[in-house]
Amino acid sequence: MGKLHAIALGCQMSAADGAELAEPLLRRGLRWTDSPQEADAIVIATCTVRQHAEDRALSLIGSLKPWREADERRVLIVSGCAAERLKGWLQERFPHVDLVVGAKSVEDYPKLVEQALGRRFDALAENLEAFGAARAPSPTGSPATAFLTIMRGCNYSCSYCIVPAVRGRELYRPVEAILEEARRRLDEGARELMLLGQTVNSYRGEHKGRPVRFAELLRLLDALPGLKRLRFMSPHPFFVDERLARAMAECRSVCPQLHLPAQSGSDRLLKLMRRNYTRGELLRKAQLLRRHLPGVVLSTDVIVGFPTETDEDFEMTLTMLEELAPASAYCFKYSPRQPTEAALWPDDCPPSLKEERLARLNEAVDRLTEASLLAQRGRRFEVLVEQGGFGRTPEGYKARWNGAAGLPGELVSVRVTGASRRTLLGERDER
Ligand code: SF4
Repeated sequence: MGKLHAIALGCQMSAADGAELAEPLLRRGLRWTDSPQEADAIVIATCTVRQHAEDRALSLIGSLKPWREADERRVLIVSGCAAERLKGWLQERFPHVDLVVGAKSVEDYPKLVEQALGRRFDALAENLEAFGAARAPSPTGSPATAFLTIMRGCNYSCSYCIVPAVRGRELYRPVEAILEEARRRLDEGARELMLLGQTVNSYRGEHKGRPVRFAELLRLLDALPGLKRLRFMSPHPFFVDERLARAMAECRSVCPQLHLPAQSGSDRLLKLMRRNYTRGELLRKAQLLRRHLPGVVLSTDVIVGFPTETDEDFEMTLTMLEELAPASAYCFKYSPRQPTEAALWPDDCPPSLKEERLARLNEAVDRLTEASLLAQRGRRFEVLVEQGGFGRTPEGYKARWNGAAGLPGELVSVRVTGASRRTLLGERDER
């Protein structure tokens, strides 16, 4: 029987796409394999938000040429944001790719695969009894966590971001479809759901004739039996409000953790980035969350070297970071992406200065991470086991412990005794 492997490169949306795109093929009777070399079909979910992610995808596609050409029955599918951006060029440059499906066509993907490759899969999937019998592994690697895409696209137009161009405007999955998939995932053994969307908290839907915003969706999901933890990625600060903070505080399963992507601490740059909030508003959102959810753990994203960034702008980003006090932050050097608005402006921060600022930023983040981890010493956490002896607290801290390792999906109590660079260390608390 044919075997399938999926590879996701880049953001969590792309990781979720990878698993989602594998499923129609698994339902067609292919079997999952963890090894690309053993596979008869490979699906690559690409990301183009950063040049680096796109470069990795192109290099991987190129490197799979010998694998694809060694057996004419093999199938290589490239999907996602880079596929959307580069479509025709990709097919011309890499003729060994069988099918390119852009991010905007992801809803039609099963149909497109069927039309283009249905017969080939019939030959690969000899055992039709296996239909529907398999699922791709969770992108986290833990069977206890299921990713659930609730919306696609973005209605914003941040001047540096390629997402609206490659994913289009926001499309929301119906509430019923989300609830149904959530129930199915929980029946299959998931205990944690990670809701995904480009600006996940701008979600809008309808349930029993009533409008449903993101906060209400959290409440509906929270009522599902068997759900232990509910997380979401990536919220937009603009939609973090009292309603959301209350829902997060009141839902038993919603984790006290929020990613609040700041991008900059300078109002001048935030305006140029078209982020739709000021530094003061962002920090007030963080205070609002901390008021409703004492102990909430924040993380953030920061861009350095954005066009026209001055020393003063950069210092403001550093002070914003101190005030926001996230437990972690993803810091990136700005790189222009075509066809964004910012790509039309001179990329005027020299590479060496970008490096220097990034290094200073990462130092500041490392200090904040260390302080946040060490402040947990002596506390007990309920940890969801991902692999033996490793898991995550509700706040999203990674944890390792001595003592009984636990099984994936089990909730265990861990007493924190210290921390390594990014992980809490502790003892299994058997009481
Ligand atoms: S909110 Fe801005 S950064 Fe986020 S996906 Fe939309 S355009 Fe990109």
